[in-house]
Amino acid sequence: MDSQRPVPMPNAETAPFWTATAEARLSLPRCNDCDRLFYPPPPRCPHCLSDELVWEDVAANGKLYSWTEIFLEAVPGIAAPTLLVSVELAGQRGLVMHMLAHEPRVKDLPLGSAMSIRFGALENGVRLPYAEPAGDAA
Ligand SMILES: [Zn+2]
Repeated sequence: MDSQRPVPMPNAETAPFWTATAEARLSLPRCNDCDRLFYPPPPRCPHCLSDELVWEDVAANGKLYSWTEIFLEAVPGIAAPTLLVSVELAGQRGLVMHMLAHEPRVKDLPLGSAMSIRFGALENGVRLPYAEPAGDAA
C-alpha cells in the first residue's frame, strides 16, 4: 500500500468492522429485531430503526454483482486504472460490498461468478478487504 493512500479512520460504528478485517475476518452488524445484515455499518437498523445491532462474523465470499474501471487517479496512492468491484455477500441477498480488485481478470468474468474477499497488508492497524475470483490462491 502506498504511503500517500488515505487510511480509514474507525469510529464507534465502524470499529468492530476494522478490528475484524485487521484479523482477516469479515464481521457485519445484524439487526436483532429484523435479522438483516448491513454494510456499511449503520448507527441503527435502517429497515426497522432498532438499535439492537449485534456483530457477527460472516463468510468472506459472494458473487460478482458489478464492477467498474476508473481511469482517473481520484485517490492519492491508488494508481489508475482502478478496478472497483461490487460483491453480493453469500450471507444475504442484496447485501453488496464495494472494494477494489487487484486481478484484472475480474473484468472477463460473467456477473454472478464466485468471488472471495481477501485482506490486504496490515498498515496503521487497518487491513483493507479486496475482491478476487474464488479459487485464486490467498
Ligand atoms: Zn431491523
